[in-house]
Amino acid sequence: KILRVAICGLGGYGTRVAEAMQTCKRAKLVGVISGTPAKVKAWQAKYNIPEKNCYNYENFDAIRDNPDIDAVYVITPNALHHDQVIRVAKAGKHAISEKPMSINAKQGQEMVDACKKAGVKLLVGYRMHFEPNTLEIIRMRKDGELGKIMFFQGLSGFKIGDPTQWRLNKQLAGGGSMMDIGIYSINGARYMTGEDPIWVTAQETKTDPVKFKEGVDETIQFQFGFPSGAVASCLSTYSMNNLDRFFLNGDKGFAELQPSTGYGPIKGRTNKGELTGPHTIHQAVQMDEMAALIFDNKQPIVPVDGEEAVKDLKIIDAIYEACRTGKKVPLKL
Ligand code: NAD
Repeated sequence: KILRVAICGLGGYGTRVAEAMQTCKRAKLVGVISGTPAKVKAWQAKYNIPEKNCYNYENFDAIRDNPDIDAVYVITPNALHHDQVIRVAKAGKHAISEKPMSINAKQGQEMVDACKKAGVKLLVGYRMHFEPNTLEIIRMRKDGELGKIMFFQGLSGFKIGDPTQWRLNKQLAGGGSMMDIGIYSINGARYMTGEDPIWVTAQETKTDPVKFKEGVDETIQFQFGFPSGAVASCLSTYSMNNLDRFFLNGDKGFAELQPSTGYGPIKGRTNKGELTGPHTIHQAVQMDEMAALIFDNKQPIVPVDGEEAVKDLKIIDAIYEACRTGKKVPLKL
């Protein structure tokens, strides 16, 4: 069965997902939700989308009455995901949300509850959960090839441009680098170690308070403790380039990925040598796998559901609290 998808938010990443979906075996782009009529026209022509599958932000609740759409993929600014996903659920369609699923754990839980109540699936665009070299490290760790895991390091950052973009607007982004790129190290710390943190410490620094206003974090260093005694040390930033690296250390071996989350080839090595998994179009694999999760109840190796995303949001809440208070914040996920 083919997953028939409408994309909500035809921006940079929505465009990337649409292109990737052209190579999908089990997912098909069939509809759009957009506030810009010119974009809708262009997408209709490019992807052969019928008029009856085109909606705007005001009228898309009517998708309820459209039997030709199975799921809506919400790819708008972070703070909009919450309301849009809940509207999708109320319309009886499966919801796929981009990361971060929302801007705090409370909102995230409301999304999970709304989808549960409506009897629809809620999935999140964690594309790395389907990436071959990432999965090979997870396999090695599970099979004990790295021994007892002791340490994870995650570096996630890039130098952000245009100061007027929504990513630097607290109302739309919900925060700064942590919401956008730091979340990769948070999520990575969990799937690489296979554990959820039980405490968080964090320190925020700001070199440019004009560009990075109140509530928009520029750089945060953060640390996790895990139940096994393993620890993690991570960096999230909007002011340094070339930071896309994961390192996992166990008492029998190590694994590293660099780049670890970019769109291009994910490169890695372990103490046994280079990782040789194929380069995939992450978004295409993700959408094919999501079709299987929705229709075949397939279980992913690393979850991509709403509950998984709420864990990351609880950690983000705790990181911000630790920055504010300077205290070690205990966590129960
Ligand atoms: P973008 O700015 O390129 O696109 C955002 C889209 O939302 C635009 O088409 C814009 O018109 C629309 N929009 C609707 N309401 C809006 C409003 N009130 N204000 C501003 N724009 C509004 O951003 P993007 O890079 O496509 O990011 C969108 C989402 O996708 C974000 O949540 C981001 O974190 C996520 N994302 C995920 C990945 C990934 O690899 N998984 C990569 C990039 C972005």
